[in-house]
Amino acid sequence: MYQLLISFILSLAAVSTAAPVQNETRVDSAWDIIVIGAGPAGIIVAERMSKAGKKTLLLEGGGPSYWITGGRQKPAWLDNQQLSRVDVPGLYKSIFADQGNLTCAEHANAFTGCTLGGSSAINAGLFFEPPRSDFDTYFPKGWKHKDVSAAIDRVYDTVPSDDVYSQDDKFYVQSGYVAAKKWLVDGAGYANVDINKEADNKSKVFGRPIFDYVNGQRGGPVRTYLQDAIKRKNFQLQMNTRVERIIRNGDTATGVSAIVNGTAKVIKLASGGRVISSGGALQSPALLWFSGIGDPALRANLTAGGKLDGVSDWINNAEVGNGLFDNPNTFIELSNPSIQSYVHNYSNPIPADALAYTQHRSGPYSFASETSAFWDTLKVDNHTIGFQGTIDSSGFADWTSNNTITLNVYGTSGLFSSGKVELNDQYLPGPDNNVYYSDSRDGDAIATFIHSIFAKLDPKVLTPLNIPLNSTQTQIRDYITSSTAYTRGEVNHWSSSCRIGKCVDANTVVKGTKNIHVVDASIVAPLTVNPQFGVMIAAEHASDLILKLGKY
Ligand SMILES: Cc1cc2nc3c(=O)[nH]c(=O)nc-3n(C[C@H](O)[C@H](O)[C@H](O)COP(=O)(O)OP(=O)(O)OC[C@H]3O[C@@H](n4cnc5c(N)ncnc54)[C@H](O)[C@@H]3O)c2cc1C
Repeated sequence: MYQLLISFILSLAAVSTAAPVQNETRVDSAWDIIVIGAGPAGIIVAERMSKAGKKTLLLEGGGPSYWITGGRQKPAWLDNQQLSRVDVPGLYKSIFADQGNLTCAEHANAFTGCTLGGSSAINAGLFFEPPRSDFDTYFPKGWKHKDVSAAIDRVYDTVPSDDVYSQDDKFYVQSGYVAAKKWLVDGAGYANVDINKEADNKSKVFGRPIFDYVNGQRGGPVRTYLQDAIKRKNFQLQMNTRVERIIRNGDTATGVSAIVNGTAKVIKLASGGRVISSGGALQSPALLWFSGIGDPALRANLTAGGKLDGVSDWINNAEVGNGLFDNPNTFIELSNPSIQSYVHNYSNPIPADALAYTQHRSGPYSFASETSAFWDTLKVDNHTIGFQGTIDSSGFADWTSNNTITLNVYGTSGLFSSGKVELNDQYLPGPDNNVYYSDSRDGDAIATFIHSIFAKLDPKVLTPLNIPLNSTQTQIRDYITSSTAYTRGEVNHWSSSCRIGKCVDANTVVKGTKNIHVVDASIVAPLTVNPQFGVMIAAEHASDLILKLGKY
């Protein structure tokens, strides 16, 4: 009865203004499945486990984010609205100026979300299906496109997405889109496509971005999968609960040790149960290390820092943390008198724009700021290297005049460089120095791409400001691989740090263990597109595999 009452209250929270109620005492029972981390992957895998009847506990270190989860941080212009800052797409970029309590500053040496929804609660919402070649080329047996296609369908069925984000069906802030289309479609021969309808084509394509918003508000797994899960009495979400380590008896997890409301607590697995780490590509490797699983070379340092207190043995798995990826990026500032930049303002939006959003979920605040995106590829030493450009509605750093927009160019799949997760002196996980351009072929390839699109750029359409249009390929390479405000920035698309077939097996079981899984961006290979869609596919597919395994 009590459980029914709790799930009733939780389901009310999904549709009304109430914050979700958490029953602290329930962490005392034993669980079939304990999922650590409520990012997109953790939410999806926990939803799938609970749907299959498993008694499932989802533990999130952070607190509420969206209004429906109890998130209440917001600017005054949203007073009287059932919206937190997280819900409003146009407030996306404010996270870089004021992180509130939404990011992992205390838990990771990099920018990433530590709140309900993980980084999907603070990201731009760009939602691009990876091309089939990503699965067929970069994923092992059991994870090819034919294997994951049912998972792709389920993500599409569950997570709404659209390129027409404004609820009045109009597009806003379009001068950058018009100029980019003139440059790339009319000038450089790019095909103008519906990006997700032609997901497999990533050669010379241009289009409007797709976002996973729901009715003009942030969407994603918190608004979809999680709302289904919290209606089930065999599912419990526990926020503000940070897992310190997985408790093992040799190769078998028996529970987790977590800080629940400031107190260390052991949460037990039921017999035959499984622990699934979904802490993201930086924090899942760290959690495995703190649980005594990883490269034995790390053990002395972890012991010295007290990180292995209570851990009596070590499981060798040198692939934990290996292969960390993020897109090497360059911001290119572009200007033209025809451009009208648009800067979303957290506290003082243009009154008409605030009204359009609060009354109709329309106008510039109904999207994060990206007006177009494009892709191309290049063959280098038998690798097909992918490139993506995303065009934003305003300038950046030294170039913020009203006629400036920013093109963010990334290298994507097929790059040669590969990094590692490393712990800093505070034992916080972050990227090592090899993530970007540690193989010089990457800088050359991205410079070739930028040089090729510059060759098609009529300065009457757009003029690049921080890289001269007539730069040689070598000059471009030297610039993009140097450290400036515009180059080598972290894109925060952390992935690939616990790869399938190396760190985990094809069923996502951590090698050397029986019932510990990693299901999050760590197991996703570098993709041709922004990662969240691929992370959701991986979580859906991993759920099928874990359910097939049954009890360990
Ligand atoms: C600023 C920004 C913008 C982005 N924009 C886009 C975009 O537009 N499109 C796109 O496709 N991708 C984007 N991304 C990337 C995308 O959001 C991530 O790839 C995705 O969220 C990764 O999902 P995940 O489930 O692996 O982990 P995460 O989203 O990192 O979630 C992990 C969760 O686990 C929790 N956790 C970790 N360790 C523990 C622990 N020990 N105990 C309890 N909880 C724990 C964390 O608090 C966090 O909530 C962006 C990312 C950032 C940071």
